[in-house]
Amino acid sequence: MEPIIQIKDVYYRYAGNEGEETTALDGVSLDIRKGEFVAVIGHNGSGKSTLAKHINGLMLPMSGQVIVKGMDTRDENLIWDIRQVAGMVFQNPDNQLVATIVEEDVAFGPENLAVPPEQIRLRVDDALKAVKMLQFAKSAPHLLSGGQKQRLAIAGIIAMRPEIIILDEPTAMLDPSGRKEVMDTVHYLNEEEGITIVHITHFMEEAIRAHRVVVMEEGRIIMDGPPREIFRQVSELREIGLDVPQIAELAYELKKEGFPITGDPLSTEEMVNILCP
Ligand code: ADP
Ligand code: MG
Repeated sequence: MEPIIQIKDVYYRYAGNEGEETTALDGVSLDIRKGEFVAVIGHNGSGKSTLAKHINGLMLPMSGQVIVKGMDTRDENLIWDIRQVAGMVFQNPDNQLVATIVEEDVAFGPENLAVPPEQIRLRVDDALKAVKMLQFAKSAPHLLSGGQKQRLAIAGIIAMRPEIIILDEPTAMLDPSGRKEVMDTVHYLNEEEGITIVHITHFMEEAIRAHRVVVMEEGRIIMDGPPREIFRQVSELREIGLDVPQIAELAYELKKEGFPITGDPLSTEEMVNILCP
């Protein structure tokens, strides 16, 4: 089957005030299959957000092509269909909430899609259930915690019945418990609802459970593979200023000191099994 997201040799340059230009995407190609969970990492300015905005047509390639579920993002007639298929969640939950009551906030998207009112009710309840927020349906969004607000933003996207959700550092402003809530929600949507996930993050631990990790550097994709394969390249990642998950780092340091660590553990449990077989 054709990949649900096809990014083909995409270039994008920003024009600065003084006539200087920044190449944000420098020939990026990436195919993502339906149902995949892809984590995108890379330090500040490597082009992650620019890439994310290309996937739902918020930005258009200067050259190259982005095809989402068979639809070319440069086709103006398809842009609303593309945004319905590929929803986006941003870093700051406060900027994404539009209504004063939780359920009204979730209804906003489907209302704009002209979904019939009786179906909206169903979609809102389903979406709130999926993010485990049904009990807050009548609450005021500004009283929620950061993690709850971000789950509400995700519910607003779910109510539009997307097949893809792109999350651009959705946990960056959250405390550890909020981060965990959001990550559990995103994994649930991927595993139970089959939604394709593109998760941009600077927390390496969040990339461990992805099917695939894509590493960006200066507008290019420089690594692409399963988490275990990516995070075994500790010195390469460090060279471009990235961390690795704690356990991967521990394994690397122990190996360097001559400890017989076999395999490439990523979780505490895996490490324990290696050290105490
Ligand atoms: P990331 O999300 O990985 O931090 P971005 O996609 O935001 O990277 O940015 C990629 C490059 O484009 C950076 O060099 C950044 O400074 C530049 N850039 C991003 N947005 C703009 C903009 N609106 N105007 C000019 N340059 C920008
Ligand atoms: Mg960014």
